[in-house]
Amino acid sequence: MNAIHTEALTKRYSNGRGCSDVHISVREGEAFGFLGPNGAGKSTFVKMLVGLIFPTEGRASLFGEPAGTVAARRMLGYLPELYRYQEWLTGEEVVRLHAKLVGLGRDETNRRVPELLERVGIGLRSRDRVKNYSKGMQQRLGLACALVGDPRILFLDEPSSAMDPIGRSEVRQLLHELKAQGKTIFLNSHLMEDVESLCDRVALLNNGTVLQQGLVSDVLQQR
Ligand code: ADP
Ligand code: ADP
Repeated sequence: MNAIHTEALTKRYSNGRGCSDVHISVREGEAFGFLGPNGAGKSTFVKMLVGLIFPTEGRASLFGEPAGTVAARRMLGYLPELYRYQEWLTGEEVVRLHAKLVGLGRDETNRRVPELLERVGIGLRSRDRVKNYSKGMQQRLGLACALVGDPRILFLDEPSSAMDPIGRSEVRQLLHELKAQGKTIFLNSHLMEDVESLCDRVALLNNGTVLQQGLVSDVLQQR
C-alpha cells in the first residue's frame, strides 16, 4: 500500500487558481519532492493531503485512509509554510501544546519535548518567548511540532525557506536522519538542491500542473 496516493486531485479557488489533476504515489520510507516556483500550487496540494482544504475534484489517501479523516490525520506531521505561533508562549510551551493535541501522555511529553527541541537546534532558546525568535528559529520550532507525535508521514512546506545556509544544511541533515529512520517525507520546495540531496522521486509543478515526475536523477538531468 502506498503511503500517499492521489488521483486527479484538484483544487480550484474561486479566482480559478490552485492545482489540478495531480496523480502521485509515494511509497513508505520514500522522500518525494514537489518542486516548483512560488505560486505553482505546492501549498495548495499539501493542504488537501493534510485535510486543511477540501478538493474540488479527485481523491487522496494516506496508507489507504481518505485524506482529512481522523485516521489519516493521526499518521501525519505537518510543517506549514506560514505558521502563526502563539507568540506569547515559549518555544517549549508551543511544542508541549502540540504534544497535547496529538494525545501524548505526560511522561512521554516530558521525555520527547526537550529531546526534540535539542534536535532541531533550539534547545538553548526553548524558554524564550516565540515573539523573540527569528523566522528561521520559528521554522525549527515548527519542525519540532511536526515531529512530536512521531508521525509516519511528514509534510514539509518549504521547511528552510527563512534559514541561512548553516540552518539549511542542519535541516537537511535532520531530514536525512528522519528518512534513514524510515519516515515517509513529502517536501515542497522551490530549491533544486533541497530536493536533489534528499528525495528519491520528484514532481515538477508549474501553474498548478505537474509537468513531469520520476526519479530525481532522470527528471533533473533533463532540465
Ligand atoms: P505555492 O505553494 O507553490 O507557492 P500556492 O499553493 O500557495 O503555491 O498557490 C497556488 C496558486 O493559488 C497561486 O496562484 C495563489 O495565488 C493561489 N492561491 C493560494 N491560496 C489561495 C486562496 N486561499 N484563495 C485564492 N487563491 C489562492
Ligand atoms: P485563512 O487565512 O483563514 O486560512 P484563506 O483561505 O483566505 O483563509 O487563506 C489561506 C492561505 O492562503 C493564507 O495563507 C492566505 O494568505 C493565502 N491566500 C489567500 N488568498 C490568496 C491568494 N489570492 N493568493 C495567494 N494566497 C492567498
